[in-house]
Amino acid sequence: MGRQGMQFGVDEHGQRIEPFKNGRSVCPLCGNVLIAHCGDINAWHWHHYKAIDCDSWKEPETAWHLNWKKRWAGNEREVIIEKDGKKHIADIQNKNGIVIEFQNSPISMSTISARETFYGKMFWVINAKNFMEHLNIWSLVTKELKELEEDNRKSLAMDSYFYRTEMEEFRKKIAKKEREIRSTKEQLSSAKFHMESYFKNPEQITAVALASMAKWDEMKNGYEEANYYSIYDLTNYFKEYRAHQRTQKSLAVELEQIEKAIHKINIAPPYQAGNILYKILAFQEIVQLKCVVSIAIPIQEQHSMFPIFNAVRSLEQLVSYQHKQAGFLFAIDPVPLLEKLNYQKESVQSKIAEANNTIPDYQTMVISKVKAYYVHNYELTKKHFDGWQKQLDKYNSELSDLTDEMESFNQAEQIVIESSREESEKQLEEDRSHTMRRWKGLYGFRWKNERKSWSETGSPVFFDIGKDYLFQRTGPKTLRKVSLAIFLNKYNPPGASSMAI
Ligand SMILES: [Zn+2]
Repeated sequence: MGRQGMQFGVDEHGQRIEPFKNGRSVCPLCGNVLIAHCGDINAWHWHHYKAIDCDSWKEPETAWHLNWKKRWAGNEREVIIEKDGKKHIADIQNKNGIVIEFQNSPISMSTISARETFYGKMFWVINAKNFMEHLNIWSLVTKELKELEEDNRKSLAMDSYFYRTEMEEFRKKIAKKEREIRSTKEQLSSAKFHMESYFKNPEQITAVALASMAKWDEMKNGYEEANYYSIYDLTNYFKEYRAHQRTQKSLAVELEQIEKAIHKINIAPPYQAGNILYKILAFQEIVQLKCVVSIAIPIQEQHSMFPIFNAVRSLEQLVSYQHKQAGFLFAIDPVPLLEKLNYQKESVQSKIAEANNTIPDYQTMVISKVKAYYVHNYELTKKHFDGWQKQLDKYNSELSDLTDEMESFNQAEQIVIESSREESEKQLEEDRSHTMRRWKGLYGFRWKNERKSWSETGSPVFFDIGKDYLFQRTGPKTLRKVSLAIFLNKYNPPGASSMAI
């Protein structure tokens, strides 16, 4: 192809020559005539006189190509390589036999593959200046270091999380124990208060008993009495006491009535009739006294020396005088009546004496009940008090264990955390330098619209982005930064035989 440029033609003696003004030479590959182009703008070069398909792999020569090739000695540039009867011009074949192809324009994967097969030991330098804007790169050292530090931070955070969680657990347990202790102390103090109130000396017990009994007499009959309830268990005593009281009262009333009747009879005016000395009483009184023998005296005959109507009548007969009271006086024979009343009086008196004798010593009984009440309650409360005291001792010892446990965990964990921090600091340092060595010069990359063909090469590929370093593709997602100086030193080592023209 006529546009293909070459730096070397061959003269009539078979020597490689560079273009010169109005120069002619022969193509070392196809043997056709080459014409020198020595303009002011483009680099001087040879090109075929006629459009000829000389080397289909060659692309138009640019300043970029020329600039690269010029770094090698003349005899390492545009080297004709013959293989299986085919000839191609390699951009560079250095003294170690490595072919370097400088590629500016896109080529197909099949062409890449064919060239790699033909040249064997080779690599590519791609002009990537124009698609650099589509390349995102990031330092793998930076990325890996960031990850290392993050891992380290997480690991330390994990230690610290464990520590804080455990300490929190301890604090919760301690707080719970302290609550239990507080509540037990409250129980103790309440029990102590009750014990003090139940602890009574004999004088106090007697005083309580008497005060309780004093209420018995104040209590009204009926509802109050029926609903009497005593914390000292005195209810039955109370009921007995009241029954006795009632009996005594009714006996006293009975005695009084008998005595009243006797007195009434004794002071009543007499009335002599026959040989009996009657006593004049009111009709109603005679009915009440149920006198067997009574008489009715017409009033006009009261003072008569010769009473004519003083018949003796039975009580039943007397009742028939109910409506005739105004006209009569009434009298009784006091002897049998007084005899009966005196007999009744003796009988009631003996009942009273008997009742008095059978009244138990309520005061002693009540004192004993009251005492039993306080002793029982004191002992019961004391039992609870002792139980709570034991519980409190147990809680206090548990609290002290917990506090010790937390303290020793805290101390041990501080040491663990500290040494773990030191250890991980050391490890991080090691990992850092390891990472820096391992990932030095390596970059992760993402290439928007990457030229697909360059991701499938068999030979190494270097991207020239117009800086003093190249990027070597080392993996589908990694690049290695290679300084131009090192690159050249490796593939164009200085030596006697290499001479840049
Ligand atoms: Zn040619």
